[in-house]
Amino acid sequence: MARYIFITGGVVSSLGKGLMAASLAALLQARGYRVRIRKFDPYLNVDPGTMSPHQHGEVYVTDDGAETDLDLGHYERFTGVASRQSDNVTSGRIYKTIIERERRGDYLGATVQVIPHVTDAIKAFAQDETDDLDFVLCEIGGTVGDIESLPFIEAIRQLRNDLGRGQTVSIHVTLVPFIAAAGELKTKPTQHSVRELAALGVQPDVLVCRSERDLPAGERAKIAQFCNVRPEAVIPALDAKSIYAVPLQYHREGLDVEVLRAFGIEPGEAPNLARWDDIVERITNPEGEVTIGVVGKYMGVPDAYKSLTEALTHGGIANRVKVNIRWLDAELFERDDEEEVTAVLEPMHGILVPGGFGERGSEGKIAGVRFARERNVPFFGICLGMQMACIEGARTQGVKDASTTEFGPTEEPVVGMITEWMTGEGIQKREEGGDLGGTMRLGAYTARLGGNSVVASIYGSDEISERHRHRYEVNTHYKPVLEAGGLVFSGMSPDGSLPEIVERPDHPWFVGVQFHPELKSKPFDPHPLFASFIEAAVKQSRLV
Ligand code: GLN
Repeated sequence: MARYIFITGGVVSSLGKGLMAASLAALLQARGYRVRIRKFDPYLNVDPGTMSPHQHGEVYVTDDGAETDLDLGHYERFTGVASRQSDNVTSGRIYKTIIERERRGDYLGATVQVIPHVTDAIKAFAQDETDDLDFVLCEIGGTVGDIESLPFIEAIRQLRNDLGRGQTVSIHVTLVPFIAAAGELKTKPTQHSVRELAALGVQPDVLVCRSERDLPAGERAKIAQFCNVRPEAVIPALDAKSIYAVPLQYHREGLDVEVLRAFGIEPGEAPNLARWDDIVERITNPEGEVTIGVVGKYMGVPDAYKSLTEALTHGGIANRVKVNIRWLDAELFERDDEEEVTAVLEPMHGILVPGGFGERGSEGKIAGVRFARERNVPFFGICLGMQMACIEGARTQGVKDASTTEFGPTEEPVVGMITEWMTGEGIQKREEGGDLGGTMRLGAYTARLGGNSVVASIYGSDEISERHRHRYEVNTHYKPVLEAGGLVFSGMSPDGSLPEIVERPDHPWFVGVQFHPELKSKPFDPHPLFASFIEAAVKQSRLV
């Protein structure tokens, strides 16, 4: 039977619980255990799909088409275990299920309540599809003390009882702030947070203490005494230079050993962390660097492009170079000032137009595509970025009003709404003006690649599966015009109806993809398109 590790956070948010969970899972995996990480989000949205990146950062899409929290991206990048819909649940989804059941009459006249109905649903979610696992790590979003997270903490309390001794461990992540005026680290917030959690019936077994300074033995002992844990189970967690150094750092601080001990498992031999050593070595000692200009919209919100940032870093790892990302606000390029565009883009070794929604900044993105095409700078267009590359291509072929129906009615819909597509379950249909939540073409779909195409040689295959999240699609009606302008449709859906990849074989590196390759890239297995794009950027860096 799987064992459960519950991870809660206290004092403040943004303590890196997700990264801690991902790192611990990687360490357990390196010891030969089978792991899966799950995220409970206490908010009332059914999923983060309708939330703005300003609010919530990136929406991470799974193979099975779930729109999930960006922490699932960390989980997958650190463990290589593909996340599923069943790995992320929100209060909204739980209430929705319960209310639907209530309306069907499934509760047979009972009063429907938080305990037991909501807590039972949370417990069922935690235990769903876990037969083949050694450890299930469940991260609870938010901070202990939030009203919203109470049912989740209560469900953990019950599960700890239900499953019995040795089957669950509770880890609490807290902050030990340094107060400059006193010149001291303060343990009081941690004490209060643990007391709050204990008052809800959950005594933590391991404390992870995020701090800017080393946690001296005295402070560790003090936390242990007040919080009722062994001093060795107070794990200091200082900021790391790279997120990929975090597993090694937690291992040095004894996290994996303490968690196993808390389960009563003898830790045995040290885990094999060669994979992580190699990644950190490549990141710390790069042999060169390249600068990639990302022309997008949510520039003040680094989390909005989390997977993209990581995938570019992975491309750097593959080529042993440091990748500097310049976030360029597309709106800056909309002033029709060619000199300005040139001044900003000329130093770039590669230009990337990422996914996005809405018209704002689109003309700037098109200007970015044009610069890359005309100046032979490596270009990578992802989702909306591919659509912009096609609109740019059409305009240069004389289709002056080329646009997408996403931005409003147009005479030249080079990009239009997809209303039908094939899934494993048959044809999916959508209507204009339908619901926004969960109605995009989502998740993994297969694409066939042209035999002699650039992308087939990059992938080393003529059939791929990649994750999608879009509502609009390049209109094949314009294929002849675009091809006349040198844009090759090198990847199509298996039935040939939906364009998946376009490329310009006469350009040093110009690829647009309708899917999101960044979601599947891993530090120990960089995505081929990102590895190849950065390789092209390295070549470009030798020219400029
Ligand atoms: N807005 C575009 C669409 O819905 C692109 C989506 C994206 O970039 N993820 O098709």
